[in-house]
Parts: sequence; structure tokens; C-alpha cells
Amino acid sequence: MPDYCCFSNFILELTGNPQPGEISLAHNGVLFLDELPEFKRTVLEVMRQPMEERKVTISRAKISIDYPANFMLVASMNPCPCGYYNHPEKECVCGPGVVQRYLSKISGPLLDRIDLHVEVVPVSFDEMTANRKTESSAEIRERVVKAREKQSERFKTRDTIYCNAMMPSNMVKEICEINENGRALLKTAMERLGLSARAYDRILKVSRTIADLAGSEEIKTEHLAEAIQYRSLDRDGWAG
Ligand SMILES: [Zn+2]
Repeated sequence: MPDYCCFSNFILELTGNPQPGEISLAHNGVLFLDELPEFKRTVLEVMRQPMEERKVTISRAKISIDYPANFMLVASMNPCPCGYYNHPEKECVCGPGVVQRYLSKISGPLLDRIDLHVEVVPVSFDEMTANRKTESSAEIRERVVKAREKQSERFKTRDTIYCNAMMPSNMVKEICEINENGRALLKTAMERLGLSARAYDRILKVSRTIADLAGSEEIKTEHLAEAIQYRSLDRDGWAG
């Protein structure tokens, strides 16, 4: 079960004497929420404003206080209460409608604000023990540092923006230019997956980052295709 106590501090910001809670304490760091659907939906919905504005505003009769809240949200969840929905070998034993009810605790607008949805599928013993050459953490770090440098350079004239994720909507079109093929792919994905305008911006920003990590000046179709893959929870039919 998740630790509700630490998260309830965030609510204190809104209901008790104003004081920084977990979200402000995670400023410039990571806020990790394990078992996301176990939190009350109303609690999760409160996070939307700080996720968008990177600050928490607390208004009282005489005073309004802004706490900084520029954090990276990392959350984990099971696909269903029993944990075996979509499992390649084991059967999900959840009753009718249970999976949908479980997933509906996470609202569309909250999912829209999460850049990457990654489904972690079980790895077989053979795959785990296969002698494959993989990229080392040191090599990945090097790519990430280079991509961040490129982004610092890109936003050097903007005071409050230093990476792709911080780009406001009105800047996305100018910075995340895509070609005709990319536009056609994105159009099909938007229509098929029923994506929102917010998800559209996310895909473009994430594809810009994937291109940066690949050392590419332009956003190629393959970068866009990878970014579209990270919207798996938006897809109609994921839970039937
Ligand atoms: Zn299940």
C-alpha cells in the first residue's frame, strides 16, 4: 500500500496553515507516486495545476502565496487490481468492469499531462539471460548530457525555460517543426487514438527530445513514431 501520509502533506498546503508540502519539497527533483490509482481521485486532480504552472498557489483572505513546484512526476500502477491484465501467460481474474473502474481513477486530463506512458511487460528467462550488447548507463548519461546542452543552447534567450518539457504551447510549433510525412503520421495517430490537443503538444515535445538524444537537428518520422508509442494509456481499447 502506498504511504498516504507523505502525500497528505500536499493537501495541508491547501487546507491548513500554508506551508510547503511534498510537491514543493520535490522542487527541481522527482516526486514518485507508487500505485497511482490507490490515491483518491480528488487528490490526484489537485496536482494538475502545479504540473501545468510549476508552482502551487495558496490563496487566503488577505494573502496569496506561491510555492515553487517544478518537479518531475514519476508514477507507477498495475494494469488492474489483480495485476495480470494483458499478461502474456497468466489470466486476469478481475470481474467485469473492474479494470475500467480501476483505470478510470486516473482522469484523461491528468494522463494528458504525463509525457511518457510506458507499459512494462514481463521479461522471459531466456530474454533476461541472453548475451546481448546493450548500451551502458555511462553511454546513456553521455547522450543525455549532450541533449541537455543542446536544449540549454536552444532556450538561452528565455529566462524561465531550459529544456523541451518546459516549452509553452505557443512555442511548440516554432521549435518542433515536422515535415509532410511526420504531419501525416501524426494526423493518423490523433484520429485513431482520439488524442487531445494537449497530447498533441506532448508528442511534439517528446519527439524533439528523442531527436536531441539521437543527435539529429530535424525531427524525423521515426522520432515522432516513438513519441506516439508513449501515449499507450490514451488509446481507446487499452482496457477493453
Ligand atoms: Zn486483473
